[in-house]
Amino acid sequence: MLRNRHAKILATLGPASADYEVMKKLVAAGVDAFRLNFSHGSHDDHRRNVANIRKIEAELGTPIAILQDLQGPKIRIGTFADDKPQMLKSGDRFTLDSDKTPGDHKRVYMPHPEILKVLQVGDPVYINDGLVRLKVVKKGDGFVTCDVTAGGAVSNRKGVNLPGVDLPMSAMTPKDHEDLKLGLELNVDWVALSFVQRPEDVHELRGIVGNKVGVMAKIEMPNAVARLDQIIPLCDAIMIARGDLGVEMPIEEVPPIQKKIIRKCREQGKPVIAATQMLESMTQNPSPTRAEASDVANAAYEGADVLMLSAESASGKYPVEAVAMMDSIIKRVENSSAWRPLMDARHPEPEPEIGDSITSAAHMVAESVDACCIVTFTSSGSTAVRMSRQRPIQPVLMLTPNLNTARRLVLGWGLHCRVAQDPTNLDEMVSIAVECVRAEGLGDHGRHVVLTAGVPFGVPGSTNMLRVVTLA
Ligand code: PEP
Repeated sequence: MLRNRHAKILATLGPASADYEVMKKLVAAGVDAFRLNFSHGSHDDHRRNVANIRKIEAELGTPIAILQDLQGPKIRIGTFADDKPQMLKSGDRFTLDSDKTPGDHKRVYMPHPEILKVLQVGDPVYINDGLVRLKVVKKGDGFVTCDVTAGGAVSNRKGVNLPGVDLPMSAMTPKDHEDLKLGLELNVDWVALSFVQRPEDVHELRGIVGNKVGVMAKIEMPNAVARLDQIIPLCDAIMIARGDLGVEMPIEEVPPIQKKIIRKCREQGKPVIAATQMLESMTQNPSPTRAEASDVANAAYEGADVLMLSAESASGKYPVEAVAMMDSIIKRVENSSAWRPLMDARHPEPEPEIGDSITSAAHMVAESVDACCIVTFTSSGSTAVRMSRQRPIQPVLMLTPNLNTARRLVLGWGLHCRVAQDPTNLDEMVSIAVECVRAEGLGDHGRHVVLTAGVPFGVPGSTNMLRVVTLA
């Protein structure tokens, strides 16, 4: 199943799409990877979704990546008397406290005592994605009293953001630890950590999962933005979680931060995902706004590896149409005259390392002989990631004996991942590559194929060979 595009599509599953037939349509329309959002759904729901994805994968013979997105320490207020929403007016006083009784228009329970301790006079407190804004004016033992600076409705268990406040919390809650156990049991390919603030958060997850899954940090907190240079090298991929990022930081900061993160990830060869509200209006309408189409196009022009659908595919009315629309926009961008120069403008310097020198040379050779594709033999996937970092115009056929590697690397820009046996000698290497290139419809008679591999075969991290083969 050739996608004929380099950027990938990640779709979030939810009530609108967590159904075998719908999921099959989503894959046919362009989904390369699914996100299981552990802020919602039961363990049984996630088990069922994974079983369906693996069934579709086997039927289509194409690896599909599964991303487990952990909820993280999402802060929420308590509940209100009679479950009634309360209207807060600008200029009112409102208190967050440690009293578990239901709230009213003057106060509500804050079920995180450490937050009450850390908040200081002058700190902002946002409720409901920043729609209601408070400012701390007084603090005491087990409470903070705030001025309402932007009024609005608050209701049971609404989310809270504390922009710029250094939160004394790990990015993994007890729920995340339980959910992660399930993710590992279900053999997910990627795990995303929400509300990462510091490098230690990534170390905590890595300490549990090692290299069994890809580790992804969601960048949504100002602390993480300030520490990008420490966080990105520790991760296997990064998600620009624009939803919370646009609440935690002034919204006009989101586009430059997106550009900065994509640039840094591309330099370091880390897949990067542009996420949230890309085609938001398609939750209700069968076609997007012009601005949304431009947002998707912009992420593709920036060279993001993956574009993500959230509510559009999870709970919207038009999940399949949203995927098809994203697929068309990306393809149109990649066929536009402006796209290639943008990819070429940022070619990374080869690292002083054999594997990187070989992949960079393979890219140059593929350009000069006008190859139909580049084939990388890889067991860990690291050579394929290096190849993807070059942003070659040719598709990269990544061949690996390891199904988990093939699934994980689906998130890499331009990578067409397939499982193939490890060659034992050079002749076998050529015949396996040629057979796969033909089977995948990547080239035919007279076209050149550029191959990279490591000799001796089967040793991870040993890429040291470049060869050009002409298809008979
Ligand atoms: C986001 O905030 O943009 C995001 C992707 O996270 P979530 O959907 O978990 O809120």
